[in-house]
Amino acid sequence: CSCKLKGGLDDCSCDVESIDSFNNGKIHPLLEELLGRNYFRYFKVNLNKECPFWYDDSKCALKDCAVDICTEEVLPEGMRNGHEIKKYMTDSLKEKEECDEMMELSTVDHTLSQESKDAFVEWTEYDDSQLSFCVMDDEDENDMQYVDLLLNPERYTGYKGESPHRIWRSIYEENCFKPVQSTRPSYSPNIVSKGLCLEKRVFYRVISGLHSSINIHLCARHLLPDGWGRTKWGPKLEEFRKRFSPESVGPQGTTRLKNLYFVYLLELRALVKAAPYFLNQTFYTGDQREDSEVRQLLMEVLEVARQFPYQFDENTMFQGDPKEARRLKEEFRQHFWNVTRIMDCVGCDKCRLWGKLQVHGLGTALKVLFSGDIIGRTDIPHNRQFHMTRREIVALVNAFGRLSKSIRALEDFKNMMKTS
Ligand code: FAD
Repeated sequence: CSCKLKGGLDDCSCDVESIDSFNNGKIHPLLEELLGRNYFRYFKVNLNKECPFWYDDSKCALKDCAVDICTEEVLPEGMRNGHEIKKYMTDSLKEKEECDEMMELSTVDHTLSQESKDAFVEWTEYDDSQLSFCVMDDEDENDMQYVDLLLNPERYTGYKGESPHRIWRSIYEENCFKPVQSTRPSYSPNIVSKGLCLEKRVFYRVISGLHSSINIHLCARHLLPDGWGRTKWGPKLEEFRKRFSPESVGPQGTTRLKNLYFVYLLELRALVKAAPYFLNQTFYTGDQREDSEVRQLLMEVLEVARQFPYQFDENTMFQGDPKEARRLKEEFRQHFWNVTRIMDCVGCDKCRLWGKLQVHGLGTALKVLFSGDIIGRTDIPHNRQFHMTRREIVALVNAFGRLSKSIRALEDFKNMMKTS
């Protein structure tokens, strides 16, 4: 099992059993505990943004699409209005400020020649622009609200038909890189992967893996009859078969599941790479004991993650001619930006919430892997460029938690298939 991408369609075809046993037996239980903690369960999001691409999409009124917004009183003290900004300054944000200050000082250094000043500014702008893969909700927008993720679980909502199809279609056809010489409109993985360079195939596979994960969740928490004339939430094998079994969708089903494992390894690697950065965080919620327990738990997760031998190898990407690599990275980033913006077109609030969180988490993983920075004090003493907001940390860990839960759900479906 190796995730070094060499160019074949089936590369990174890891031995899924070893990932299953690592995930289901080791990291998944720890993640479940971690994601139940206050720091990670409250996510700040704007669910009222206008769709920037089309206008005729009204929000659906399905009961299961509704999202409960947190009132100020239920939030931990450290996340209440006014409190958070001040307190987060004690986290890495403070470092960012110092860094900005340093930058400012450097740019007004009159001993520099005009030429080198220009070069410095250009370099800085370029480097800053490289950092982000997401168009993020602005923390100060009035419509930003906290949502309790545990009270609004990702599950079947009944959101189907043209609205989600348009979103997926637009992601694959317009924002996933198209095959170089193909004019075929289809977005099946086999066709899309042909003729694409490594970076573009990675892009396609992470999106497809995310799509698989979302669909596995809606199969695993579907609405079922409880036998007493009412309904309950539980796994629906029929739905899972319809979406993933070779009998229903041919070999694409297996490819889509492989893409789930692919994006899982990519986010796992991002967590491992970001570990030195997490070491410097306080995970502030206003309750010192809780915060240090969360920190301890996260460190356990990261240690377990670090020991898993099969990691995505980001060093194989954006190599070769530096100019071309830079152009490709920029294109990659622009495409991903668009995917984050399309999330504001999702017509079901619950799906929009989880879509935004997972895309934001994936974007954070890409930022960790490809920002070009060495992260954290243990690597170099003063690497102050790299910064993650609380929302990015919460999104990254939750997004990985979603993928981990999907892989765990696959085991349940496999067992159900054996006995059905
Ligand atoms: P879709 O899943 O809509 O797929 C459309 C087409 O894409 C398929 O026909 C197939 O050709 C292709 N395709 C399918 N899977 C893959 C893959 N993994 N890789 C590549 N191509 C693929 N519904 C819920 O019930 N709960 C949710 O929480 C939820 N969250 C959503 C979040 C987002 C961002 C979006 C866009 C949709 C969400 N949905 C959710 C809707 C759900 O994803 C499906 O769109 C819906 O169930 C309709 O499914 P479908 O079978 O018509 O195919």
